[in-house]
Amino acid sequence: MTAAALLQAARSLESTGNVGTSGNLSVRHTDPAQGPGMLITPSGVPYEQLQEDALVFVDSEGAPRGRYAPSSEWRFHLAIYADRPDAGAVVHSHSPHATALACLGRPLPAFHYEVAFAGGKDIRCAPYATFGTEQISVNVLAALEGRRACLIANHGAVCLGETMDKALFLARELEQLARIYSLCLAMGEPKVLSDEEMAHVVEKFAAYGPREV
Ligand code: 13P
Ligand code: ZN
Repeated sequence: MTAAALLQAARSLESTGNVGTSGNLSVRHTDPAQGPGMLITPSGVPYEQLQEDALVFVDSEGAPRGRYAPSSEWRFHLAIYADRPDAGAVVHSHSPHATALACLGRPLPAFHYEVAFAGGKDIRCAPYATFGTEQISVNVLAALEGRRACLIANHGAVCLGETMDKALFLARELEQLARIYSLCLAMGEPKVLSDEEMAHVVEKFAAYGPREV
């Protein structure tokens, strides 16, 4: 069930604009024999070639178990599950507009109220560190404090959610926001909403979603 959800999400990562073997995804998972950990995509396998048996289980100590090596970014995925009880899934994407802003080292300010989908008044940009390192993991965790999304300078974006559906929704939303922000910057400087208004929107989003009346 968890593996099927992860596989389906991995195959749809392209919907964020991510291509090739860029990016990676994981879900929190407890293996009956190995205990708590996560299931993560393997390193360097193109998504269209990915099969369920290529997914890798990594336990909470970082020990992998599988046919393939886990994603090179297993450290920050595992660190997110350890630090964030609200994380059930993590999506890392090199979606083009989010990545373009990340390459400029530009966070997303409150230029649009939907920035609050990430849980706060802005979406930070973590400082650059080499991919797959302990340092990138430290930087990502710090940029995610109080948020469900961040950019990584000269690299891409990371989103988390209680479920894979929510993490993927946020990854698509972040790409769309980054696209709109890029358009704004090409035309001028967008007006930024106040901290007070964004706190209000974050509160409203807590109850946002389909509901029967
Ligand atoms: P992996 O194929 O090892 O997951 O690497 C892709 C990536 O985006 C590294 O940051
Ligand atoms: Zn990456």
